[in-house]
Amino acid sequence: MTGWTARETAAALRRREVSAVEVAEFFLDRIQRLDLQIGAFLAVSREWALQQAELAQKTIDDGSAGPLSGIPVALKDNLTTREIPTTCGSRILEGHRPVYDAHVVERLAQAGAVILGKTNLDEFAMGGSTESSAYGVTRNPWDTDRSPGGSSGGSAAAVAAGFCPVALGSDTGGSVRQPAALCGVVGFKPTYGRVSRRGLVAFASSLDQVGMFGRTVEDAAFLAEAVSGHDPGDSTSIPFEPVSLEPVPLKGVRLGFPKQLRDSAIDPDVARVVDAALASLRKEGASVVEIDLPSIELGVSTYYVIAPAEASSNLARYDGIRFGPRVDGDGHVGTVASTRGKLFGHEVKMRMILGTYVLSAGYYDAYYHRALQVRGMMAAEFEKVFQEVDWVVSPTSPRTAFRLGEFADDPLALKAMDLCTVPANLGGFPSLSLPCGASDGLPVGLLLTGPAMSDGRLLGTAHSIESALGPFPAPDLG
Ligand code: GLN
Repeated sequence: MTGWTARETAAALRRREVSAVEVAEFFLDRIQRLDLQIGAFLAVSREWALQQAELAQKTIDDGSAGPLSGIPVALKDNLTTREIPTTCGSRILEGHRPVYDAHVVERLAQAGAVILGKTNLDEFAMGGSTESSAYGVTRNPWDTDRSPGGSSGGSAAAVAAGFCPVALGSDTGGSVRQPAALCGVVGFKPTYGRVSRRGLVAFASSLDQVGMFGRTVEDAAFLAEAVSGHDPGDSTSIPFEPVSLEPVPLKGVRLGFPKQLRDSAIDPDVARVVDAALASLRKEGASVVEIDLPSIELGVSTYYVIAPAEASSNLARYDGIRFGPRVDGDGHVGTVASTRGKLFGHEVKMRMILGTYVLSAGYYDAYYHRALQVRGMMAAEFEKVFQEVDWVVSPTSPRTAFRLGEFADDPLALKAMDLCTVPANLGGFPSLSLPCGASDGLPVGLLLTGPAMSDGRLLGTAHSIESALGPFPAPDLG
């Protein structure tokens, strides 16, 4: 069953070749046997998973099954669940039991999915390596000395390791697509607003979006279809139908490669793998042209002003009074200060300080306001480019999976690696990473970004690309 996609599993369940409880037990056992070496999960609830599986089987038996009935799913631990704690990888939410399920969790339940557990992440999704989690690192299933990327490293590693066919993560600046690339799976970030953020613990609200992981594009689409669509409980939710894959033949598809990424920070081996993939797409009738996106080079600095600014405001709510544990101090102010001082990790504190700074009187115009202007300019540049090409393409990450600890002394270098992914968040565009080859045995991802609301076509194009490039293998974990 490890090799089965979510779609194949759904078909096998419908044909009664296997029961929902057998599927759940298979994956729970695999997690128990192998996750010690990966660390993808922060919590696994066997009991809850088996209850959901029994319920799913009943619906399969009585003909009322939903599209995902009996399909195991893992959730990044910044999506709220009443049944299991939601910690965001932070001590400040240790053991926290939210009072409501995220909208996507409600949708999964309606669709019949079986939630296996919660996956590891960088604290509050701030990071690109899953190393800033307060509960330990996650390891890359392709090489356990390496990072799976982040911040949704747990979900990406879980899918790559065959612990579940599909998983949800969140993508504020690349946190679904970058770990997908580093783990050799598909990662999809829909158009901002197509999936409700209700119950996605806020990091940078104008950029945050729930995203999907699968071994295939079809599976990512399958999951997207189940969890997307309008939610009146999120004021930024777009009143449109759920995302679903539209078939798109490759012949005539126009791909644009930003010339600014040609001789910049892309590792030559990664560039070679991506070029080879683009060459094979040309053979299938796609055209690849060079495009001009000057503001791409400003993306990372713009993102690292806007995201911390929003985070400094969003994370003000963790005061030791309303959520999670408390560290007593002198009076109210002292208690808030010691709780925040002791229970937030270094990266999160650094970002809150930075965010407060760029919003403070005297610096607001120089930093925050300016960043917003660049954001607008960048979105306009992309929209203009989308009149000439269908998709902007590039490597997802300038490098393949790096060693754990490699960036411990150089946090800026890790942030610089968000170069290719942040523009889609700043513009609200849909964007998808799919495996396109390997370098030294480590997966390389190809990133496709399209205009707002082109999600169905984006998935369809990615599906055709995946068929042209051939299936990507899974790592061998035993
Ligand atoms: N690496 C980026 C950051 O550290 C993106 C994080 C994300 O998308 N959640 O902010």
